[in-house]
Amino acid sequence: MKVVERKPMTLWEKTYLPGIAKGMLITFGHMFKKKPTINYPEKTRPFSAVFRGLHVLNRDEQGRERCTACGLCAVACPSEAITMEAAERLPGEENLYREEKYAAKYEINMLRCIFCGLCEEACPKDAIYLSETFTPSNFTRKGFIYGKEELLIPDPVKEPEAYAKARGEEAARTSSVESR
Ligand code: SF4
Ligand code: SF4
Repeated sequence: MKVVERKPMTLWEKTYLPGIAKGMLITFGHMFKKKPTINYPEKTRPFSAVFRGLHVLNRDEQGRERCTACGLCAVACPSEAITMEAAERLPGEENLYREEKYAAKYEINMLRCIFCGLCEEACPKDAIYLSETFTPSNFTRKGFIYGKEELLIPDPVKEPEAYAKARGEEAARTSSVESR
């Protein structure tokens, strides 16, 4: 076994002044470097082009809900985070729902979701996508269960500005769910 002897400190080193000076130099050096932190949420950094944030239930160009409650997204979801209830479109509701069947209830449990994007991949109707919005916060677990009220994109006919903003134009990532 080899014993490594500690090098004895010189008288100068025993004053600790060199060590203090060295430490202060490093500290002052950092004061003039560009700060790596940003003042979130006032400022945000751009996400990757493949970033997957909160889900949006899509409408067509006439403002009709695209989802036909086929359940493929729920089947594809590895977290079993999606639940829905299908309903039949009634005569006179053609301007509300694109297909003969629609999701009367559609919920995603964001506490289960791993934002894998498989629901988007599985959807044959382009009815769901993962947006760039990602600021979920809440005080209760129930508040993280998003229903159609939270997921459905604004109507492009009735609310064109809100629709355009939600279409991504969502980089501001201003979704606040604290009131839920
Ligand atoms: S992103 Fe993935 S985990 Fe989240 S709801 Fe869609 S399929 Fe499920
Ligand atoms: S979001 Fe798409 S996959 Fe899911 S139920 Fe609606 S139409 Fe089917």
